[in-house]
Amino acid sequence: MRLNTDGLIIREQQTGEADRLVTVLTRDMGVIKAFVRGARSIKSRSLSATQLLGYSRFSIFMNRDTYTIDEAEPIEVFFGIRNDFARTSLAMYFCELICELSPEGADSPELLSLALNALYMLANNKIPVHQLKAVFELRILSLTGYMPNLLGCCECEKFADDTMFFDIEASQLYCSACSKPQHSYMLGIGTVTAMRHICLSDPQKIFSFKLSNAGLKELADIAERYLLATTQRRYKSLELYKSFT
Ligand SMILES: [Zn+2]
Repeated sequence: MRLNTDGLIIREQQTGEADRLVTVLTRDMGVIKAFVRGARSIKSRSLSATQLLGYSRFSIFMNRDTYTIDEAEPIEVFFGIRNDFARTSLAMYFCELICELSPEGADSPELLSLALNALYMLANNKIPVHQLKAVFELRILSLTGYMPNLLGCCECEKFADDTMFFDIEASQLYCSACSKPQHSYMLGIGTVTAMRHICLSDPQKIFSFKLSNAGLKELADIAERYLLATTQRRYKSLELYKSFT
C-alpha cells in the first residue's frame, strides 16, 4: 500500500552502506520511522528532502510494519538555521522534544504546525531565540497533555496578583497571600500572563507577545525548568545549545 503525506524529518540514523532510517513527524500518521532505501542512488534533490529538518512531500510504501520512503519532494529545508550553531542545536532540541513527547501513531497536525512555525521563526530570526525556545517548550507540553495549571491561585482562585508563585512539581499557581515560597518559583504577573497566552491562545498567535527583558529571562527559566521536571530526562541538544549561547 502506498501513502502520500507531508512531514518533517526529526531524526536520522545510518543503518547500512546506503540505507538510512529516518523518523518523520507526518501530517496524517503522526510520528513514523521509515527507511530511505539506497540513499546514494536517490536523486540529490530527494536526499536533502530526507535529511534532518527537511520538510517534504513523501511517497511512502507500507509493507506490514515497515515503511519505506521511495520519493521525496522538498517543500522547505530551513537553510537559515543551518549556518548558525546555536540555531541548529535549538532546532535539534525541538526535534528531540517531538520524539520524546509525540504520541506514536496518532495524527498530529497541531504538533506539525507548531514545529514548522517554530523552525520558520528560527530560520528567519523573527524573535529572540530564548523567547522562541520558551514558547516551544510550553506549547508542546500543552499539546501533549502536560499543560501547566495557570487558571488562578489553586487555593483562593485569585486570577492575578503582582507576584505569583508556581509550584513546578505540582503544576499549581499561588497568589502571594497563599504562596508557599519554599516549594515554588516566584513569577511577575507579566510572566504568568505570557505563559497563559502561550498555552491557551490560537496557534498563529502564540509567538507574538511583549515582555520586558527581565520577564523574558524569567519565562525562559520557568519554561525550561517545568519541561525538564515534567519529562524527567536530559537532552544532549539542549546542552549543546547552552554551550553556544
Ligand atoms: Zn490565593
